[in-house]
Amino acid sequence: MSKKIIVIGSGFAGLATATCLADRGYDVTILEKNSIPGGRARQFEAAGFTFDMGPSWYWMPEVFDEYFELFGKKTADYYELKRLDPSYSIYFGKGDIMKVPANIEDLYALFESYEAGSSENLKKFLKEAQYKYEVGMNEFVFKPGHSILEFADVRVLKSLFRLQLFQPMSTHVRKLFKNEKLIKLLEFPVLFLGATPQNTPALYSLMNYADLSLGTWYPMGGMFKIIEAMVALAKEKGVKIILNQEVKSINVPNGHATSVLTATQEYPADIVVGAADYHHVDQMLLEPAKQNYNEKYWDKRTMAPSSLLFYLGVNKKVEGIKHHNLFFDESFEQHANEIYENPQWPSKPLFYVCCPSKTDASVAPEGHENLFLLIPLAPDLKDDEATREKYYNIIMDRLEDLTGQNIRKHVIYKRSFAHNDFKKDYHAYKGNAYGLANTLFQTAFLKPKLKNKKVKNLYYAGQLTTPGPGVPPSLISGQVVATEIDKQYQ
Ligand SMILES: Cc1cc2nc3c(=O)[nH]c(=O)nc-3n(C[C@H](O)[C@H](O)[C@H](O)COP(=O)(O)OP(=O)(O)OC[C@H]3O[C@@H](n4cnc5c(N)ncnc54)[C@H](O)[C@@H]3O)c2cc1C
Repeated sequence: MSKKIIVIGSGFAGLATATCLADRGYDVTILEKNSIPGGRARQFEAAGFTFDMGPSWYWMPEVFDEYFELFGKKTADYYELKRLDPSYSIYFGKGDIMKVPANIEDLYALFESYEAGSSENLKKFLKEAQYKYEVGMNEFVFKPGHSILEFADVRVLKSLFRLQLFQPMSTHVRKLFKNEKLIKLLEFPVLFLGATPQNTPALYSLMNYADLSLGTWYPMGGMFKIIEAMVALAKEKGVKIILNQEVKSINVPNGHATSVLTATQEYPADIVVGAADYHHVDQMLLEPAKQNYNEKYWDKRTMAPSSLLFYLGVNKKVEGIKHHNLFFDESFEQHANEIYENPQWPSKPLFYVCCPSKTDASVAPEGHENLFLLIPLAPDLKDDEATREKYYNIIMDRLEDLTGQNIRKHVIYKRSFAHNDFKKDYHAYKGNAYGLANTLFQTAFLKPKLKNKKVKNLYYAGQLTTPGPGVPPSLISGQVVATEIDKQYQ
């Protein structure tokens, strides 16, 4: 009889855990509280538009390729990828737009146009970033993070200096570049890791290699195509996915999880994987004596930001924007301060606009545009309709002014999403959008552990444990947990 595994949650981490284990002969069931799989990467259709609800940047394509290759498949078996060019645009002010080209020679020329001599520094910077990326991917991210000893390998120790773990990203960038706009371009990717460039180790300039060298891609049909592909593969491997089944508790009679309970059913289990938000699984599904951490521990963590999102259907083509657009026309430092140091609704928010209908005609009716607006916010803020509307107007005023057109009166569909929705839909701690920040003290073995210390057969996967937030890390997290379980139970 193969061992029964219950996976709680069907995001990237849950689907990857389940598929890897089913492939190794385990009997795997995923229980998902929502009516569709995918977690943060769900999709919905309204008024003829198809909206991806969360991730929109497809970075590190080889992480996806390698995942499907584990099962003898290719990403191309499931979806068509397009490389975007420009990768994205940055608005620094009216008429002051930086378009970041996909081609590396064009990128060097762009750097030179902002700062004479900077292309040579960019080459050096990217070479270091490539080294960090390769060491990171080959030596770090697939480690379970049980202990510091995993990193005590001579090769890894030798590389520690070059990895710049103890130098802040902001210092690293400023040593090589003086132009403020180039600095913003190079510092922006670490925002994906949930912390400021001052609090993020320069190790993570590996994100610049992912951005500027490996490129920004888009799966035609939307990011949900990845979820559809993972679900198809999971089912092919025999994983049962049961939707609308919220786990209410994990039954742990004698230091072993024996079943999980939903409102209507008890599901027996030999092994349980909590691939929902770690805090929720640990604090809400277990009795206190079985929890890996306490509330005080969680309260001290630096969470990645939350977000205010707007999904908009527009009945005309919007001029002057590309697929990905960053609006950095206000102070980066002030907004970061209002996320991390003095958490509050931002005075002058930076924001991001994704317009996938620029690349993909299937996500909006002809002649229409599909817009996704995002303002990063501190977690745990008071969230109500009036505040959301206030910020809608603030960013719409700026978007209209910077692009020189009326957009608001062409909006024929509008839905917002913020803290309250993150809590309701995903049980997100403090309404976080994407987990736990990758600060120095929340990296590798310093992250919440993927194994429960008191319940021998309970594991955790997803963006709050190793290796961290983002789609590729969540996908890797599932693989790492599956390997750990298989090592123990094979
Ligand atoms: C707005 C936004 C934009 C983002 N942009 C990007 C991007 O561009 N690129 C990128 O790489 N990353 C991005 N991210 C981050 C990325 O989406 C996440 O890191 C990743 O999707 C997390 O996957 P996960 O499997 O860990 O968690 P989740 O996707 O949250 O999956 C957890 C699942 O558990 C379920 N669940 C919770 N509680 C229970 C319960 N009690 N019982 C059963 N099921 C339960 C939830 O419903 C959910 O389906 C973004 C995230 C957000 C929110």
